[in-house]
Amino acid sequence: MPFAYDDKNIFARILRGEIPNRTVFENDHALAFEDIHPQAPVHVLVIPKGPYASLDHFAAAASAAEQAGFMAAVAEVCRISGLDKGFRAIANTGEDGVQEVPHFHLHILGGRRLGRMLAPAEA
Ligand code: AMP
Repeated sequence: MPFAYDDKNIFARILRGEIPNRTVFENDHALAFEDIHPQAPVHVLVIPKGPYASLDHFAAAASAAEQAGFMAAVAEVCRISGLDKGFRAIANTGEDGVQEVPHFHLHILGGRRLGRMLAPAEA
């Protein structure tokens, strides 16, 4: 299935400067900013600057430089945020993954013990 990207999403608007954000880190290929509804003491979203709708889209289509820049931003966010005791990285993807914003974003959550990742599946 080909990947599609709709540039009307809210993170595309943040990248265009149409909506403010609380930037944590930025480089040529990625922007990291605080989630507007934090679910942990540290809750940062890392997004690529390119038009990628999801993690699998980004992994399949982004250049090596874009992927390296994105991962460098993840490393900087962890360092800046003091996540030496650990963290969780989540990429909600598509309908089953309950992705709300169709621009790839990695949630970086930490600053407290987070508990189990998922509830056990229903029988
Ligand atoms: P999801 O697509 O389900 O992985 O989550 C989208 C995330 O984006 C949610 O955690 C929202 O709180 C967050 N969010 C939505 N709008 C903004 C915004 N303008 N600034 C920062 N975070 C946002």
